[in-house]
Amino acid sequence: MGDIMTEKTLHLKKMLEDMKARGETWELLRLFGPSGPRVVVEGKHAVMLASNNYLDLANDPRLKEAAKEAIEKYGWGAGSDWSIAGYTDLQEKLHKKIAEFKETPAGLAFQTGFATNAGTLAKIVGKGDVVVSDELNHGSIIDGIRLSRADKVIYKHLDMGDLEDKLRQVHDKYEHILVVTDGVFSMDGDIAPMDEIVKIADEYGAMTYVDDSHGEGVLGEGRGIGHHFGVQKKIDFQMGTFSKALGSMGGMIAGEEYVIEYIYNTARTWLLSAAYPPAVTAANIKSLEIVMQEKDRVQRLWDNRNYFKKELESMGFDTWKSQTPIVPVMVRDSKKAKELAHKLFDAGVFALPIVFPMVPRGLERIRNQISAGHTKEDLDYALNAYEKAGKELGLI
Ligand SMILES: *Cc1c(COP(=O)(O)O)cnc(C)c1O
Repeated sequence: MGDIMTEKTLHLKKMLEDMKARGETWELLRLFGPSGPRVVVEGKHAVMLASNNYLDLANDPRLKEAAKEAIEKYGWGAGSDWSIAGYTDLQEKLHKKIAEFKETPAGLAFQTGFATNAGTLAKIVGKGDVVVSDELNHGSIIDGIRLSRADKVIYKHLDMGDLEDKLRQVHDKYEHILVVTDGVFSMDGDIAPMDEIVKIADEYGAMTYVDDSHGEGVLGEGRGIGHHFGVQKKIDFQMGTFSKALGSMGGMIAGEEYVIEYIYNTARTWLLSAAYPPAVTAANIKSLEIVMQEKDRVQRLWDNRNYFKKELESMGFDTWKSQTPIVPVMVRDSKKAKELAHKLFDAGVFALPIVFPMVPRGLERIRNQISAGHTKEDLDYALNAYEKAGKELGLI
């Protein structure tokens, strides 16, 4: 034990080793350069199918330029929390842009999407309230609900009949009910029917909260799930992130003026954590402007996604429930999914195997995430690799 500082943590070492033996740990792969439709990963050139960079904005020169200008004007660090002395005129402009983007009276930025869910859900419901939550909701939602100390009732994934049953069961017993769902589910690429959810929630007097992390820049001409279903004014809390299609980082939430003011006066992740650098604020403003203007960029994303999915299916692959640029290729076996990912990687295609515990056993797959930046050559290159590897593994 000579090299170990203390022995009090050895149970963690044991747990890690068990996870490794089960193949449940992450191998960190290094990019050498920017994230884009083509990348250099571990020294190898590859078509990127594993990033959230749906609109190819992560390396956009306009975002970089906006950040550089802000560094010159505001310096690097924000110096404080937004609540205390780190708020800027630029940040105020971003809040207005978020509201414009989400088509709500007000908007608010957080340091990350995770901090948005954890901080907001913890405070908009509490002890004696109940949250009715889709069974496949994101981990940051689950943590936020736990922090709130509200009761939790789970409904079957996208099952509106079950949602209604659960609401019927709780609506007499609790004063405040919150229905919470991901907009686009990141593993399957399917979409929550927000029009129906809002309608059912209304019947039982329940508030609604959507996490649109994978829907912004993608659905509703880029405006997200509220716009897609025309219910942007009916969802009480529209949460999102700059870290996916918007190509940057930071969380956001939009809604009524007083709701937003309540949130920034209570959410501890907002109140007790530093503002991100003003350069991030500037890039986020630019990113929202681009997404609201460049509808052709969103269209390119969908054209690419439609082509890729159709070609995979015509080869005989099962793309599961995909309705978005998240296109799974079902393998239904953990070892085979990893083998397929390795074969793709060797051929110059970077796509992630998704296995237990991220998805239930039997639903192992490769997850592909398509970008507006992919050329037809990129997609054909990846499709060729899929066809070859799929045949070798007897998947098609
Ligand atoms: C990525 C993601 C988050 C977290 O957002 P970050 O800004 O990366 O912290 C939250 N919810 C969902 C559904 C996500 O996909």
